[in-house]
Amino acid sequence: MQTVVIGGGICGLAVAHRLARAGTPVTLLESTGQLGGLGTFFPWHDRWVERFYHCVMPSDDDLLALLEEVGLRDHVRWERTSMGMIVEGRHYPFNSALDLLKFTALGVVDRVRFGAVSLLLRRLGKGKDLDNLRTEDWLRGLYGDRVWRDLFGPLFGSKFGAAFGDVPALYLWQRLGRERNVAVRGYPHGGYKTIIDALRASIESHGGIVRTSAPVRVLRNGSVELDGETIEADRIVSTLPLPALRQVADAKLAPLLPQVNLRYQGVVNALFVLRQPLSGHYWAPVLRSGTEFDGVVEMSPLTGPVDGRHFAYVMRYTDRDSPLFQEDERTIAARWTEQLRSLHPGLDVEEVHVFRAPFVEPVYPVGYLAQRPAIEVTGTPLLLATTAHVYPSVTSWNSSVGLANRVSEIILRTAASMSPDGEPVP
Ligand SMILES: Cc1cc2nc3c(=O)[nH]c(=O)nc-3n(C[C@H](O)[C@H](O)[C@H](O)COP(=O)(O)OP(=O)(O)OC[C@H]3O[C@@H](n4cnc5c(N)ncnc54)[C@H](O)[C@@H]3O)c2cc1C
Repeated sequence: MQTVVIGGGICGLAVAHRLARAGTPVTLLESTGQLGGLGTFFPWHDRWVERFYHCVMPSDDDLLALLEEVGLRDHVRWERTSMGMIVEGRHYPFNSALDLLKFTALGVVDRVRFGAVSLLLRRLGKGKDLDNLRTEDWLRGLYGDRVWRDLFGPLFGSKFGAAFGDVPALYLWQRLGRERNVAVRGYPHGGYKTIIDALRASIESHGGIVRTSAPVRVLRNGSVELDGETIEADRIVSTLPLPALRQVADAKLAPLLPQVNLRYQGVVNALFVLRQPLSGHYWAPVLRSGTEFDGVVEMSPLTGPVDGRHFAYVMRYTDRDSPLFQEDERTIAARWTEQLRSLHPGLDVEEVHVFRAPFVEPVYPVGYLAQRPAIEVTGTPLLLATTAHVYPSVTSWNSSVGLANRVSEIILRTAASMSPDGEPVP
């Protein structure tokens, strides 16, 4: 039983790894020249650096189990990291009760309320139908109008745009379960490329085929068409975001695809190579400070300096049709350098690299659990493994691996009930 996997990001690689290890013939097709998807990297000095900031959390059980299988679990270096907050150009540490007391961006009463509610928030959400509750309604009710307007609105709006208030509270609740202000975070020794290389090696050593620069141009009900080549398949796994999938599906397959209409957020992110560290916090949201980016991720607290340099990413989640997303990289780099300098005067910038991705994750609507598309597309050999399927889990390598596990289990179960010539076993 031949399976074709479309997309060589972590999800596609994890599916192909599982199938190959189980002895099922699998071919993975990646359109670009590089495996890794949103976790890809570029050469810098004698090493590889991620285009987009990435870290592992200790609760990433599915990812850590996969790393164990390919002998990389012990390659993850763990560090205790902290969070800052930049509001109206002022820098605050944001990790302890004392930090909160000194957080003058909120009034005294709101600070106390913020602290008390935040401590209880996970518990307050338990047993509630948070999927059908707007985040804004939930948080405004608990924290009050000012905290929503001055802090949460802009903070979470930076991730989902103006629609954040409409995203189900369940998304936020799940996120709080994964992340804390002071958190142990992990980063693989040698970078994310080490994981990608190990997965490719595992797939190929078990007889699977991995092809890069192999864009799927047309997806049919039972075959994929590349440039000048058609591959027939008993099972096809697509890891493409739904809008990208619709673009390649042929006229017969398109009406069978999930009809759910989701808006996707993309991202513009710049990596600054600096000669000095910034603040020592891994992550700092930036609110009302005259910058277009709305967060800073500083890698040095996690990875240490690299060749005496410090890497800091700044990011803006935005629609792929927005003017910013369309703008040329040099203009963004020049403007964002000035904006970062306005927050950190005297900053010594050595290089700036701007990267963007059109599809990071969907803006999930309220009540999404009932609309979430099924993995198996009825009447076709197609299985879907996309960020539209990981909800309510947070979009991450961990949730992609978890989804890949579910998808490969379905395929292996079907394969087990087939005879070698593809007929169902009675
Ligand atoms: C700025 C940023 C920060 C992040 N931080 C973290 C983090 O700290 N920790 C974490 O765990 N996750 C993080 N993530 C999320 C994580 O990167 C994604 O959830 C994950 O990489 C998604 O993997 P995927 O395989 O589902 O999709 P993708 O990585 O998008 O892979 C899809 C692949 O399909 C290929 N493709 C597209 N069209 C075709 C075609 N027609 N034919 C063949 N191939 C095709 C693409 O080139 C791509 O390689 C971050 C993401 C971003 C953008």
